[in-house]
Amino acid sequence: MKLGIIGSGQLGLMMILEGKRLGLKFNVIDASTNGPASRIADRSFTYDQYREFVDDSDFITYEFEHVDERVLNYADKMGKLRPGLFPVELKRDRSGEKLFLKEKKLPVGPFEVAEDAATALRLGQAYENAVIKSTHGGYDGKGQYYVRDGRLSQTLPEGKYVVEEFVRFDFEASIIGARDENGRITFYDPSLNVNRHGMLYYNVAPIEDFGMRDIAGRLMRELGYIGVLGVEFFILNGKAYINEFAPRVHNTGHHTLMGTSVSQFEQHVRAVCGFPLAQPLLYRPSGILNIVGIEPGENQINNILEMEETQYFWYGKNGVRRRRKVGHVNTAGESFDSVKNKIEELSRIVYGENPDDYFLD
Ligand code: AMP
Repeated sequence: MKLGIIGSGQLGLMMILEGKRLGLKFNVIDASTNGPASRIADRSFTYDQYREFVDDSDFITYEFEHVDERVLNYADKMGKLRPGLFPVELKRDRSGEKLFLKEKKLPVGPFEVAEDAATALRLGQAYENAVIKSTHGGYDGKGQYYVRDGRLSQTLPEGKYVVEEFVRFDFEASIIGARDENGRITFYDPSLNVNRHGMLYYNVAPIEDFGMRDIAGRLMRELGYIGVLGVEFFILNGKAYINEFAPRVHNTGHHTLMGTSVSQFEQHVRAVCGFPLAQPLLYRPSGILNIVGIEPGENQINNILEMEETQYFWYGKNGVRRRRKVGHVNTAGESFDSVKNKIEELSRIVYGENPDDYFLD
């Protein structure tokens, strides 16, 4: 069987590494053929070759939302696209995603949609504190503007926005779920996520559920979803509110590569190719540290590898720059706290005392 992946980043790379064990072949398509996933695919294509890519693949999935529409539409037309066109369309415009969640009575924080920058600012000022998010192209905290005490953090370019009340969450969390073509749903244990400047810094699982399984399960059923889905939450006073969902494998699910009976990447491949889903079992508390904007040197890598229960992932992207995710480290331990302590130690090895330097523009 041949699985086609739209997008050639690290998520595709890890999907291929895990899926090849199952005997699958992989096609990858992107704007260029030198992304991390393209380099290890059986065949890599550029967007102009979208028909050939689709025709040569049994199923097609995506590892990124902001991809060429021609390939998505053609894969959908040929009945090969999983999880389908609808989830990615919702992600194309943040307002569509938010309005969908609200319409389905899934818990989200207060928000409004603004058609232009002046309206967005006025709506933002009506909340005590607000986040104004560009409806198109924003991810990893890109296209986000903060209003604090009525003042904008930076100039707001013209455009359409979702204006959200700034949630004073106790912490952030996420759950990774999977649904197969027969509607069977499985979940991984949820994780605690720590972000810096809108990007994931590290996460640790397991944590309490706070209703996340129920919410994510409802969301997958509403979407008629097939594949792995990541849902990010704000936890406030013991209640979970959806921040956003990702219709694909997710950065907060990388810990499933270690300490869990099946990784999110294998689970996604199983779901989209129509293989049986595994019931994921967490053998050990586990987590990851993202490597963002820095290439660790030999000494640092050796120090990481010398620590017990660590796995080092380097994505092999074309260049390292601030705010770019270029790798991650997996670790596991006896308890949630011991994993967190190990991640703090890993962070000192990778970033020294100032991780912010690498997470800021
Ligand atoms: P997003 O790209 O929407 O996932 O936002 C990235 C990060 O920005 C989130 O993980 C939060 O840390 C922060 N953030 C986004 N929206 C809000 C909000 N409404 N209230 C508080 N923090 C937010």
